This record gives sequence, C-alpha cells and structure tokens, in this order.
Amino acid sequence: MSKIKLATIWLAGCSGCHMSFLDLDEWLLELAEHVDVVYSPVGCDLKDYPDDVDVCLVEGAVANEENLELIRIARKRTKFLVSFGDCAVTANVPGMRNMLGKAEPVLKRSYLELGDDSPQLPHFPGIVPELLDRVRPVHEVVDVDLFMPGCPPDADRIKSTLEPMLKGEQPVMEGRDMIKFG
Ligand code: SF4
Repeated sequence: MSKIKLATIWLAGCSGCHMSFLDLDEWLLELAEHVDVVYSPVGCDLKDYPDDVDVCLVEGAVANEENLELIRIARKRTKFLVSFGDCAVTANVPGMRNMLGKAEPVLKRSYLELGDDSPQLPHFPGIVPELLDRVRPVHEVVDVDLFMPGCPPDADRIKSTLEPMLKGEQPVMEGRDMIKFG
C-alpha cells in the first residue's frame, strides 16, 4: 500500500501546534511507516508546496499576503485539509489585532507609538509580507475538511485524529477529548 502524503503548514501561529505534533513522541515512528512528510516546517526542508498532497495540517490564521498565497496553493494541491488548532479554527491569538481595525492602525501602534529608538514602519516589499487588513480563520479563505481545535491540540487528540485517516476512515470529532477549545 502506498504511503499517505502528509504536509503541515505554519501560517500565523506560535508553532505550539507543531510542538504538540512533535509530542507524539514514539508514535511518530509508527506514523512514519504510513506517511511521507512531503512539506513541513519541522523535519522537512522543501521550499515549494508539492502537488497531490493527501492530508495537510494547517496551523495558524491567515494574517498576511504570504499566508494567503500559501493556503490557496495548499488548498488546490491537497485532498484533505485540516484546520489544526484554535488559531486556524477561529483566528484566536493572532486575530486579537482585529480589535484595532485594519492593518495600518495595527502597524502604527506596534512600530511607531510603541517603537523605541528609531520607530519606522516595516515596509520592505518582497521581503516582509504585507499584513492583511483582517486576520481570518482558515475556513473563511478556503474550504476546510476537518476542524481540530485546541491551543494547542494535545498529542492524544492529534493521534486520535490521524490514526483513523491512516486506515482511510474519517475521524470522529466528538466529545471533550476531541473538540474542546483552548
Ligand atoms: Fe499557538 Fe495556540 Fe495558535 Fe496553536 S492554537 S498556534 S498553540 S496560539
């Protein structure tokens, strides 16, 4: 049986969801028997999101132009997209900046009003991705096939989500163990 092509991507998040993925510890070895990790910020150095990905775990909200481009590409090239963690599911912590309005007041507050020595706005087109006016959960931008909440989802929840998929089954996201936020 051919291996499942697994990707994970890191949008606007703290990487805590990926750290929780690494907390799978020895189960990662079992997972490795069933999947090829074809794109990920952990343990994989590929720069371009590949074609024909079977499953992608998406950490983080969509907060800047780079996030937007990557999630659109990932959606086109992935069969089953999982919103992985509360930032992906609700925008969560990165979404708190939405309270300040659009991108401009957020940048002014952060880099000018709160700047120390030489306050300046980070405007480096092509180097620093432009902020979107609003931080959005992943499903507001592209279709999502499964929601896995948690900040972060703990390793047991990640395992209980992935394990059925390895057998071609849909995970059951029910009950406190699987869908509690936070
Ligand atoms: Fe970090 Fe929590 Fe967001 Fe995951 S859901 S990226 S752990 S803040």
